[in-house]
Amino acid sequence: MPRPILATVHLSALRHNLARARRAAPDARVWAVVKANAYGHGIERVFGALRAADGFALLDLAEAERLRALDWRGPILLLEGAFEARDLELCSRLNLWHVVHCEAQIDWLSRHKTQVPHRVFLKMNSGMNRLGFTPDAFRAAWTRLNALPQVDEISLMTHFSDADGPRFGADGISHQVQTFVAATHDLPGERSLCNSAATLRHALSVQLGQGAAAQALAADWVRPGIAVYGSAPDYPLHHPDEWDLRPTLTLASRLIAIQDVRAGDSVGYGSSYVAAGPMRIGIVACGYADGYPRHAPGSTQEGAPVLVRGVRTRLVGRVSMDMLAVDLTPVEAQGVPCALGDEVVLWGRSAHGPVLPIDEVARAAGTISYELMCAVAPRVPFALDDVEP
Ligand SMILES: *Cc1c(COP(=O)(O)O)cnc(C)c1O
Repeated sequence: MPRPILATVHLSALRHNLARARRAAPDARVWAVVKANAYGHGIERVFGALRAADGFALLDLAEAERLRALDWRGPILLLEGAFEARDLELCSRLNLWHVVHCEAQIDWLSRHKTQVPHRVFLKMNSGMNRLGFTPDAFRAAWTRLNALPQVDEISLMTHFSDADGPRFGADGISHQVQTFVAATHDLPGERSLCNSAATLRHALSVQLGQGAAAQALAADWVRPGIAVYGSAPDYPLHHPDEWDLRPTLTLASRLIAIQDVRAGDSVGYGSSYVAAGPMRIGIVACGYADGYPRHAPGSTQEGAPVLVRGVRTRLVGRVSMDMLAVDLTPVEAQGVPCALGDEVVLWGRSAHGPVLPIDEVARAAGTISYELMCAVAPRVPFALDDVEP
């Protein structure tokens, strides 16, 4: 029998979440963001479920090639654009739309030989200070691009740093929206501003006529990533259920040993957990070499949540490379006896029904769902599930 760890991608949840994002911005077209191998899910695995998207956004050219190999003929957007001049050859060959965020990329375009002009998204740095032209330099960049025969339509985009929460007491996005609108209001072209958090939190309210920058926000193209993968972009402010998002990735394994320990016994490396009284400990075939976060807490005061046979309990002791330990006492106290081979859900949906949101595990481990999804290790086998919950 293979080692009993399995990552399962839930296709119906992907379809549901994509439709959910669309509902939040019904007049916009939707880029399904599939960078980082579809947030760790696997581009080939999610593709069929997400093909109702209007386009796919990513940044790795090899991933764009994989999408074309799946016979996706629709739009693909390279979110960071070309990394060097010859990347533009692939853009021409595969008809990739690309972001232009710096002068060097315009230089490369101006020297690029192409029969078909490129569709580009000109990016503004409206305050995040990562990629893009400053508001002052934006118009000159647009004018330069607009004069190039290599360039077809120019769309305008920016990215929010604080869409998942407030910034300095304000709503997190209006300062950037205002900057963007002020610098672009008289420029033609489609707009793209919203990631998941902005789409769910702001696009609809703006459409309903509330908030500062109506047309800009819900306009043209939204770019949801994490919401498509069923995680609340603003957890713990909102729980995924509150956004009507469903988990798309389950990491599950099984009990491979059970230990009965007495008061004073320790569990795992460094003896970081010491039992206060008699308890049953389950040993699970999952460790940090599978992508489970080593810093997930397993102390007496707090333990990262897990589901054993669908019943919630917690991690005890340190996560090791291939194993971790969980407290079976609360499970058995609920009248659910535990045995070797029992299902343990590290995050996602239990075969017994209950869901453990990846957001909760991420928070316990001091990180975010994005990182956990992306970290599932290559040694973990994947399965697809297409059953409606
Ligand atoms: C990753 C990314 C997104 C998606 O962000 P989420 O928070 O996952 O919705 C959108 N736009 C850009 C430019 C990105 O890099």
